[in-house]
Amino acid sequence: MAKDIDWQNLGFAYVKTDYRFIARWKDGAWDNGELTTDNTLHINEGSTALHYGQQCFEGLKAYRCKDGSINLFRPDENAKRMQKSCDRLLMPQVPTDFFIRACKEVVKANEEWLAPYGTGATLYLRPFIIGVGENIGIKTAPEFIFSIFCIPVGSYFKGGLAPSNFLVSEYDRAAPAGTGAAKVGGNYAASLYPGKLAKSNNFADCIYLDPKTHTKIEEVGSANFFGITADNKFITPYSPSILPSITKYSLLYLAKERLGLEAIEGDVYIDKLDQFTEAGACGTAAVITPIGGIQYGDDFHVFYSETEVGPVTKRLYDELVGIQFGDLEAPEGWIVKVD
Ligand SMILES: *Cc1c(COP(=O)(O)O)cnc(C)c1O
Repeated sequence: MAKDIDWQNLGFAYVKTDYRFIARWKDGAWDNGELTTDNTLHINEGSTALHYGQQCFEGLKAYRCKDGSINLFRPDENAKRMQKSCDRLLMPQVPTDFFIRACKEVVKANEEWLAPYGTGATLYLRPFIIGVGENIGIKTAPEFIFSIFCIPVGSYFKGGLAPSNFLVSEYDRAAPAGTGAAKVGGNYAASLYPGKLAKSNNFADCIYLDPKTHTKIEEVGSANFFGITADNKFITPYSPSILPSITKYSLLYLAKERLGLEAIEGDVYIDKLDQFTEAGACGTAAVITPIGGIQYGDDFHVFYSETEVGPVTKRLYDELVGIQFGDLEAPEGWIVKVD
């Protein structure tokens, strides 16, 4: 039985669900991990996660299908990306099968928090790894915690498929050869202030330019950018300091294979927005959020419309979400059933 929740009006907010998974790494190995009802962590005051930002995280969702079964969308890709984040921050990797088993355990233990099919709501999983244990020097931690909790969510940006406006930030979220491609908290700590400036001016979030030249779009706060041209190209920025979005790579595939667009990862110059008839932000939390307009200095550039989603963006959204909820056939390996 699903919980008695107003699924249609869920936002993106912390809720204490019943169980979370927690595993510990010590003396060179992970233990088996276990489910617990305790939603607090008791860690050493010298933990590297607290002082030196030694931590990384992931985000993925579980979807209830029409037949009652439960889908995970490309969890192996989240596992692989987390392994890369761990490599970058000198943390021990969580093997892919361990990661997926933990995801399944959390979903099964909290099944009542997963919305019924047709509500559009999902169960958002938040895996994370933190460096803990006795320490004060700048070095990798002696111990680590890997945990996954989950929350029921609606859509991330208010208004679902309604377009949002974004502000080009004067700040950078990551350095050219820094940690932009790793999903680490430090990138987000650096983005809180620019994000607040954007939101206090009624924008949904910032758009960051490439940190080296400030001429090309990099990404949208916590989501990747894509644009659609009049001659049917799907273009998304390529840069070593962008977080490689699994949603973005899924859309590149779907744009080409299912919509027949030319799918390109390349430069998106901020002074060449005129080439796009539509634009959007994509990520697990945002799904696809149409971009109404972008403020760049004194210039406000409107793409398709500030109030309506464009036709190509809508088709991409329907294709992606249809696959995630099991209504449309998925490319090989994209869906993992929670059984
Ligand atoms: C997680 C994240 C995204 C989206 O990635 P998905 O794999 O599509 O969820 C985009 N940008 C940043 C900065 C992120 O942290």
